[in-house]
Amino acid sequence: MPELPEVETVRRTLSPILGAKAEKVWWSGKNLRLNKPFDLAAIKEASEGATLESVDRIGKYLILYWKGRKQAVLVHLGMSGRLRYFEGESERPKHTHVEWSLKDGRILRFSDPRRFGQVETLQRGQEREHASLTKLGPDPLTDGIDPSYFYQGCKRRGRSIKLALLDQSLVAGLGNIYVSEALWMAKIHPTRIAKTLSKTRCENLRKASLEVLDRALEHGGTSLKDFVSAEGHAGEHSHYLWVYDREGKPCPNSECPGVIRRIVQQARATFYCPRCQR
Ligand SMILES: [Zn+2]
Repeated sequence: MPELPEVETVRRTLSPILGAKAEKVWWSGKNLRLNKPFDLAAIKEASEGATLESVDRIGKYLILYWKGRKQAVLVHLGMSGRLRYFEGESERPKHTHVEWSLKDGRILRFSDPRRFGQVETLQRGQEREHASLTKLGPDPLTDGIDPSYFYQGCKRRGRSIKLALLDQSLVAGLGNIYVSEALWMAKIHPTRIAKTLSKTRCENLRKASLEVLDRALEHGGTSLKDFVSAEGHAGEHSHYLWVYDREGKPCPNSECPGVIRRIVQQARATFYCPRCQR
C-alpha cells in the first residue's frame, strides 16, 4: 500500500504535466472505493477543458487543482492505485478507471486493480472539510510534527503505539511500513501503550518518524509490490528497509544480537527487534 513517501513521489513526478489542458475525461464505468457511486459529471466539471495548475498532497491524498475550477480532484491510491501519465497514444492499460486526455497528446491515467482507491471532487479552499480529510492529523512533510502536540497526542491514546500511529489522526500518512521502521529506529516496542511513553521517548519517535519518511523519499519510495511514480518508475527504498518484511534476519543494529520478529496487530503485520525495542 503506498504511504506518504510514495504518494509524495507521485506528486513530484507529476510536475511535467503541470500547465497541460485536459481535453476529455474518460471513465471505465466501474465504481471505486467501497463501491461508492463514481461521479463522472463532477470530475468533468472540475477538470475538463481546464489547465492543470498544481498538485498538492495531504497525508496520502493527492489533490489536483485545475485552473479556474471551484472543485478540485481528490485522489487516493488505496492498495494498488497508480496515477501516472503516458506520452502520446498508447494502449489503455488493464484496470484503468479514469483517464484525462491532455491537449498536448499525453494521457493522465488512474488505474487500480483492487479498486480500493478514490477519485472524487472536493471544494477548493475547504479541503480539510472533505469527509476523507477532516480527521487527518498534520502532514509530517508539509506541516512537520510539533513536539508538544505529538507528546500530548500520545498521552491521550490508550492503545498500542503502532496502532496509534497507523490511525492517521495523530500523524497523517504514516502507514504499516514506516511505522515499523520508525519504531525500530526509536527503539520502541510496537505493542507498548502510547500513553505510557516518556516525553524523551516520544521525542525520539517523532524525530525517527520524520527521518524514516525523508529517507524513503530520497529513494523515490518503496516498491514492495507494484508502486510506481507518475513517470512509471519503481521506488528503490525496499533495499534500505531495516525491519519491514525482514522476519528472521539479524537486527540491523550491529551491536544487537537480536533477530527480527513478525507479529500481527489489527490484521496488519508488524516487524520489530525484540532485543532492542522495549
Ligand atoms: Zn535489535
